[in-house]
Amino acid sequence: MVFADIADGVARGIESAQSAVSEALFEPVIRLGVTGLARAGKTVFVTSLVANLLDRNRMGHVGAIREGRVEAAFLQPQPDDTLPRFDYEANLAALLGQKPHWPESTRNISQLRISLRVQPGGLLSGLAGPRRVHVDIVDYPGEWLLDLSLIDQDYAGWSAAAISRARGRAYAADWLRLLDETDGAAALGEPRAQALAAAFTDYLRACRAAGLSDCTPGRFLLPGDLAGSPVLTFSPLPQAQRAGRGSLHREMGRRFDAYKSKVVKPFFRDHFARIDRQIVLVDVLGAIHAGPEAVEDMRRAMASVLGAFRPGPNSFLSRLLVGRRVERVLIAATKADHLHHRQHPALTAIAQAMLNEAKARAEYAGAGTDAMSIAALRATVEESRSHEGRKLDLVRGTLEGGRQAALYAGELPEEPAAILGPAHDGEAKWLDADYSVMAFEPPKLSLRAGEGPPHIRMDRAVEFLIGDRL
Ligand code: GDP
Repeated sequence: MVFADIADGVARGIESAQSAVSEALFEPVIRLGVTGLARAGKTVFVTSLVANLLDRNRMGHVGAIREGRVEAAFLQPQPDDTLPRFDYEANLAALLGQKPHWPESTRNISQLRISLRVQPGGLLSGLAGPRRVHVDIVDYPGEWLLDLSLIDQDYAGWSAAAISRARGRAYAADWLRLLDETDGAAALGEPRAQALAAAFTDYLRACRAAGLSDCTPGRFLLPGDLAGSPVLTFSPLPQAQRAGRGSLHREMGRRFDAYKSKVVKPFFRDHFARIDRQIVLVDVLGAIHAGPEAVEDMRRAMASVLGAFRPGPNSFLSRLLVGRRVERVLIAATKADHLHHRQHPALTAIAQAMLNEAKARAEYAGAGTDAMSIAALRATVEESRSHEGRKLDLVRGTLEGGRQAALYAGELPEEPAAILGPAHDGEAKWLDADYSVMAFEPPKLSLRAGEGPPHIRMDRAVEFLIGDRL
């Protein structure tokens, strides 16, 4: 195990030395990771990002664009032949069609290369001609990052923790009942293993539906091409006395280990370790709407996602990365178009508070991190109405079926502790506030030449993530 990790690290070191040389000599490549848990908004983000880089009139807060130095942008074949290509054209067509609808969500890793022709700025501006900068966008499920926490756990410890977490949850009943009826010391039978894995997966799905974030192992909900394979056919089991060779407990433990070595580690080695800049999308409003338990779970999940970008000195990841670091990490609270802009600072403050906590734990000193509220695709317009003698700042959008609706999402507190505190204390619901969200449809757009889809702060996000390299 240790040997393999060291070998991974060495290979990584050589590769990064090579790419550093070729970058300096030829055309710089920025690998931009886009992640977030299911439904956080990754697909819509990447689609709008690319559309707004190809047509840049709404991207005035990107310095190089504002200064007129980005002369052209074009899609190119991606460098990694074995990764699925991000289906930009189909996703954009969904958003811009006669009947606009949201595209299919991220279920797997995918990639897209957009290349920019940029005139150098600053000291070099008069001296050098334009150069090309390649941005390789890598979109992957945040659930896969949460799996990192599995690496240092053994099967028995992981099982005990998972089962104890499930005890208080009504929707865990079917799975827990099946565990009670199961003798881990009995010989493995594949039907029983499959039934356990299926019940465990249903339970994870119910966790997800209840708004929880930490639903590991991540591939159980997003199996990609591994569906039905033995590395996904296991479940936590209570400790079994005298579980010998060939027993259910032993075999499930073996599959858990295989999941770590054959699924989790290769993802980190082959993809994660090569990322330079990262945006982590978080549906903060969705979690607030789901209630305090969902917020607390999201906070914990964010801490472990962010921990992956600053691993401790002796961890599997730091051996893999050999001193290399993701240079910038942006936490973005998505779907900010559900709120009037007056409330965006409060939303950002919640994302910032989660970031600060993770930073304090992982000693992010000096690293470039920031938090923002964004909407990749603005589906609403703002309006103000008076209600019971009070002025309410609302947003209005279109619901499924074409009906227009105005939404007042609720008043977010200015102090993030007013949300994170009760969540941390295990409150069952918000005491004196009510939060709502609505599933708005994408608006019908007629874009002028040079204009990408309307957004909120996508340009600021781009400036933070890659502005220094343009
Ligand atoms: P993924 O699972 O992270 O790829 O999430 P998607 O990008 O598929 O987004 C999930 C859903 O969130 C979409 O189907 C939309 O309903 C909603 N959504 C995503 N981005 C936005 C946005 O900028 N504004 C609004 N109003 N809704 C959004």
